[in-house]
Amino acid sequence: MPGIIITGGSRGIGAGLVRLFAKNGWRVLFTYLHSEKEAQALCAETGAQSVRCDVRSEEDHLMLSGAAARLFPHGPDALVCCAGTAHTGLIQDMTVSEWDDLFAVHARAAFLATRAFLPGMISQQSGSIVFISSMWGQVGASCEAAYSACKAALIGLCKAVAKEAGPSRVRVNCVCPGVIGTDMLKGYSEDDLSALREETPLGRLGTPEDVAQAVFFLCGGGASFITGQVLGVNGGFVI
Ligand code: NDP
Repeated sequence: MPGIIITGGSRGIGAGLVRLFAKNGWRVLFTYLHSEKEAQALCAETGAQSVRCDVRSEEDHLMLSGAAARLFPHGPDALVCCAGTAHTGLIQDMTVSEWDDLFAVHARAAFLATRAFLPGMISQQSGSIVFISSMWGQVGASCEAAYSACKAALIGLCKAVAKEAGPSRVRVNCVCPGVIGTDMLKGYSEDDLSALREETPLGRLGTPEDVAQAVFFLCGGGASFITGQVLGVNGGFVI
């Protein structure tokens, strides 16, 4: 039974990933930070296991590695870095600690998780890593400059590690969602959401399942010659 680690699996896109991989027979270990009840309910629903891990923390990654070693004695077959938060505002109004925190949740976290799990994949001479970036990492968003920069950093990291780990048969890819209906959009008004739907050629918001299907493909044998790629799941918003 293949095994996967999913960060930020307690809600939204991450929970969609947990459901899809578990339904398809994968052993899933996912992380949560604040949403313990949601994590427990998801474990009961899917048979997945969860561990509390602040992805910004090096120490918490050691704990996550310990939990993973118990569940996957030969190491996980796949890692998806999905945990994330957003920040909206003018760049000149952002504090240094807000900037550092956002980079920690996205870029530092992806580095810590990759550093923790890549060596096991290299030993196995197989594995797949997927970073959940964003279409804003590809093209930039006004009033989301730091978020766009974090997500662009994931694309750079993905391409570099794909080159570094390719000779060891480990693949690394990025998925860039468009506007996906999760709690991350809770600050948006109904008018904002309608405008976003209209701006999306396919005429709707994406779902966690839409993103999960793309990640599932990238982690499977059908994607065995795909690495260092950036796959948009955005309904045509960015082409
Ligand atoms: P949600 O707000 O629905 O879920 C965020 C998840 O990240 C939760 O599981 C949360 O855990 C976890 N998380 C946040 N901060 C931390 C942390 N410091 N340590 C550990 N876990 C953390 O967001 P989405 O599902 O929408 O977003 C998931 C990913 O997709 C993010 O990386 C986001 O940037 C990206 N994305 C989302 C888009 C969208 O439109 N929704 C578009 C493009 C990209 P908990 O609740 O347990 O604290």
